[in-house]
Amino acid sequence: MPRGELEKLQLARTKDVLQRVYANVPLYKRKFDEAGFDPSTFESLDDLVRVPFTVKDDMRSAYPYGMFAAPMRDIVRVHSSSGTTGQITVVGYTRGDIDRWADLMARTYASGGTTPDDVVQVAYGYGLFTGGLGAHYGAERLGALTIPVSGGNTKRQVQILKDFGVTVLACTPSYALLIAETAMEMGIDPRDLPIRVGVFGAEPWSESMRHQIEHAMGIKAIDIYGLSEVMGPGVAAECVHQNGLHVFEDHFLIEIVDPETFERMPDGEYGEVVFTTLTKEGIPIIRYRTRDLSRIIPEPCTCGRTFRRMERIGGRSDDMLIIRGVNVFPSQIEQVLGTIPGVAPHYLVVLSKRGSLDHVQVQVEVAPEFRIDEVRELERLQKRVRAEIESALAVSIEVKLVEPKTIARSEGKAKRVLDLRAEHGGAK
Ligand SMILES: [Zn+2]
Repeated sequence: MPRGELEKLQLARTKDVLQRVYANVPLYKRKFDEAGFDPSTFESLDDLVRVPFTVKDDMRSAYPYGMFAAPMRDIVRVHSSSGTTGQITVVGYTRGDIDRWADLMARTYASGGTTPDDVVQVAYGYGLFTGGLGAHYGAERLGALTIPVSGGNTKRQVQILKDFGVTVLACTPSYALLIAETAMEMGIDPRDLPIRVGVFGAEPWSESMRHQIEHAMGIKAIDIYGLSEVMGPGVAAECVHQNGLHVFEDHFLIEIVDPETFERMPDGEYGEVVFTTLTKEGIPIIRYRTRDLSRIIPEPCTCGRTFRRMERIGGRSDDMLIIRGVNVFPSQIEQVLGTIPGVAPHYLVVLSKRGSLDHVQVQVEVAPEFRIDEVRELERLQKRVRAEIESALAVSIEVKLVEPKTIARSEGKAKRVLDLRAEHGGAK
């Protein structure tokens, strides 16, 4: 779709959604009134900067149904966010929403190279989490054979990958690594399986992790993006060029804002990703601050799509660790580990207090092929890991190399940080 036509469609849809939420959702009416914003005066997409942001706490305060813009009898499904950092947030879908979601997830698979001839194993969790059912309906909508395995029971995942001739695996990237490892333990080389594409999302991951997965499984690993507050998976997806995620801009408006001043950033600059849904009926969301950090890639993509791309998520503003006053993202550590032979991409950051100072221990697994009995080699590796992480983070750390498979694996989103600082009586 040419940009001009797209922007006309976006403008019409934005006007419509602003009027709908103002008329139907008391929270938006109150916020718009307080900000002095009258949706009937919205004339151009640049007017969006006058519209107040929505944050997670708004959704929490409206728990469970206060953000719904459609009558309850029109809502046919609810999902929720995980609630790991507080009260869960509830999202509702009308029949039309479920339909559009399936279309957008079908588009996600297709842009990453999945076709109706593929066999898709969905190993995202099914349930209140949007990942499983979102990935499921999309694969069916595309016309692919869809296997609803859900997360967990990793040996069975491997068996099904093998026996059912699976060509596309949909799960979190950290779970894909666990599946590959488990296959090796079972005496199955994942490279011998017919799988050719991975559709991975729901957690930030690095380029080096992509290479590790692609190498271990002999596949093309595609990054996808979504979050339950905005819809679920299917908000943005990489095309086969694997160079940034095309945002499905006919259904979602993306903005990048400065996380401190909330000023809108120009294309190409890093900041917090903000989404406005244009077509959702059950629970439209206006200028939602995702806490995910990224930027718009201004150059057009070689695939010819006109939807702009956002760079892979570089971290979350609420995952950001402040260590001795320095901002640190766990994904930076992952990126470094991916470049050092001899270590596995499994790590855990343990934060504690030594007196009043933050102490950082990074536990890193050595690779299974590394000769762990070679003490001198091990010391050399430890020094290298420490030097490279310290130079990337600008923070001094301790590195503890641990034996293969000693760091807990995840069947969903990986847990990378253990923050014991508060327990030691220190300030958080
Ligand atoms: Zn592209």
